[in-house]
Amino acid sequence: MADLLIRGDEEDIAIEGGVITAVRAGLDVKAKREIDARGLLILPGVIDVHVHFNEPGHEHWEGAATGSRAFATGGGTVYFDMPLNSTPCTVGVREFEGKQAALEQASVTDFALWGGIVPGNRSALAELAGLGAVGFKAFMSDSGLPEFPRSDDLTLYEAMVEAAKLGLPVAVHAENDEITRELSLRAQAEGRTGIRDYLNSRPIVAEVEAIHRASLLAREAKAKLHIVHISSGRGVSAAMEAIKAGTDLTVETCAHYLFFTEEDVDRIGAAAKCAPPLRSAAERDEMWQCLLDGEIDIVASDHSPAPLDMKQDPNFFKVWGGIAGVQSTLAVLLNIKKLPVQAVARMLSENPAKRFRIANKGRIATGYDADLVLVDPQAEFMLRAEDLRQRHAISPYIGQRFRGVVKQTFLRGVEAPEQSKGRFVRPA
Ligand code: ZN
Repeated sequence: MADLLIRGDEEDIAIEGGVITAVRAGLDVKAKREIDARGLLILPGVIDVHVHFNEPGHEHWEGAATGSRAFATGGGTVYFDMPLNSTPCTVGVREFEGKQAALEQASVTDFALWGGIVPGNRSALAELAGLGAVGFKAFMSDSGLPEFPRSDDLTLYEAMVEAAKLGLPVAVHAENDEITRELSLRAQAEGRTGIRDYLNSRPIVAEVEAIHRASLLAREAKAKLHIVHISSGRGVSAAMEAIKAGTDLTVETCAHYLFFTEEDVDRIGAAAKCAPPLRSAAERDEMWQCLLDGEIDIVASDHSPAPLDMKQDPNFFKVWGGIAGVQSTLAVLLNIKKLPVQAVARMLSENPAKRFRIANKGRIATGYDADLVLVDPQAEFMLRAEDLRQRHAISPYIGQRFRGVVKQTFLRGVEAPEQSKGRFVRPA
């Protein structure tokens, strides 16, 4: 007797004890409960490898309870929390254990944790791996937080050598620090502090250069490299060159680089500020092409919220950056023209599980966790502020229209976020 049987257009799914026990057309099994999902898309739950829920320490920015609730509402079942902007940052054993405990209490979806790379913490990486870190994140440019300093080249290279020994990927925020820092300082010294001044202070060359450098260091270190939030077609090309040259590299971009342009930043303002920044429409179209060509492995949200008072400053450089889009990633991808739904499932679920060795997740198959999302592909909605389940109703997606409505998310066979409880997951 199954706990749940979901009847789909092509296949039925039987679930027992939170696990998929059979996937077949016309399944003949008895179940305590049956759901008729004919006419709906049945996708694996979204695995978002890049969020900042900021707990512990900055729950007033988001927190795992509200963040994971919003995530599940948009079809999410597993997120990887970044080592910042919680306080303390996740750069040592105590910090890691503290965050794991806090998130086990608060989270309504499953989660994994990144460890951080900062100058001087190399000896902590092995311990973090032992605790179940999914990988290590470094900043090549200023992170915005003094307690999470950027990695200079030697710090990054030596951390990569260590990560390679531990068999874990290194994720980098790839922007050249000398270029972005100097351009930021120069603009502000000259009183140019508007939106366009900020955008111009983080040119694509800064991203391309950093991707090349990180790729070279990773290749020499024999490390797995994951480039987070690539924002430009040239950035993806740089990554493709590195792969050809032998770097074990995966490409992540974020939904916002596929949806918005710099004109949207002019219009929306602080809610659309991020680093690297949103780019021109031509560059966004390039990103679509990269997506269709299969050059992008993973799409994440980089959900990075802050309270309203931090999003207000006449000097746009001083506005806290970060786009709060954890609820909208699946919606964005389902609205990209010509992108097959199988590719969406690959980039949002299967590839993240594979790259980061999260066992029994990311696919709809026998033996896998019943992490599922049911989507009505014909229904449309406009995202309203009151629909957001995160702490602060700030998001550039407010007012945007999407086709494809999430009807229900299941975490290990249980309705999420309504009845679900999150667990810590670690690499196999
Ligand atoms: Zn981030």
